[in-house]
Amino acid sequence: MVRLAGLIAAAALLAPMPAFAKDTPEIEMWRLDCGTLELSDSESFSDAHLYDGVPRTLTDSCYLIRHGDRHMLWDAGLSAEYAAKPFIWSVYTLSVNRTLADQLAELGLAPADIDLIGVSHMHFDHVGQAKYFPTAELIIGEADADAIAAGADKDVLADLAAWFGAEPTAKLTRVAKDKDIFGDGSVVMIATPGHTGGHSSLLVRLPETGPVMLTGDLYHFAEQVENRGVPQFNTDRADTLASMDRFDRMARALDATVVIQHDPRHLDRLPTFPEAAR
Ligand SMILES: [Zn+2]
Repeated sequence: MVRLAGLIAAAALLAPMPAFAKDTPEIEMWRLDCGTLELSDSESFSDAHLYDGVPRTLTDSCYLIRHGDRHMLWDAGLSAEYAAKPFIWSVYTLSVNRTLADQLAELGLAPADIDLIGVSHMHFDHVGQAKYFPTAELIIGEADADAIAAGADKDVLADLAAWFGAEPTAKLTRVAKDKDIFGDGSVVMIATPGHTGGHSSLLVRLPETGPVMLTGDLYHFAEQVENRGVPQFNTDRADTLASMDRFDRMARALDATVVIQHDPRHLDRLPTFPEAAR
C-alpha cells in the first residue's frame, strides 16, 4: 500500500503540469442554456451581403466556472420572461427553455453563491438574467460600461440596475484591457473590441480539457470565421477584424478549443449539462 502510494506520488511528480496550475485550485466549467434565437433571415449578420435570406438557429450560451470555492458566470443570456412566452421581434423569435437560476439549482447553487458575472458585451441577449444575481460582482468592458451608464439602451440599463442604478447593490468592475480574473492565468477576459467598444472573449484553461476560448459575439456562427462576416450591428469594423485576427492567432498558439457561443454546431465541443468540462 505504501509502495503503491509512493508510485502514485512519483507519477504525479513526473506528469507534465501546465505552468498556470501551480497554485490553481480545481477548475471546472458548465455550459448553460440561456435561450434560443430563431432567425428567419441572417442578412443583418453581414455588412457585405454574405448571408442574405439565410434562415438560422442561434443558441444562447452562458457558462458557469467553478474556481476552487468561487463561482463565476460568463454571460447572462436572454430575459427569463421569454420562458413564459417567446418574444417575436423583426426577424427574431426569442425563447428561453430553462432559466439560469433553475439550472444552477440543479447543481445545488443558489443565486447568492455566484461571486462574479463576466459579461462579453452589453447586448440584451448577454445580460438578460443578470438581475437575478444582484450580489455578484459584475465585470464588463469599460467602453460598454460607459455606454450603459450613458443610457445607450434603457432595457439593458434596467437589466443591470443592481450595478448601474442609483443605489448599486454590488461591485462593478470595468476592464479596459485583458483581465486575469483570479490572478493565476486560469480565467482571462480577452479584450476583443469592435462588435461593441468593450467587447471581450474568455480564455479558460481547464486542467484536463486544456485551453478553451469562448468567443462572446466576436463570431456568431462558424461561417464568419472563414469569410470574416462582420454584422451590420457592429461598432467598429476595423476593430472587429483586428480582434478576429488576434483571437484566431491566440487560439492556434494555445491549441485551444474554440467555442462560438451562439453556434449550435459548437455545443458538442463541451460536455452537455449537467456534466462539467474539467
Ligand atoms: Zn449575442
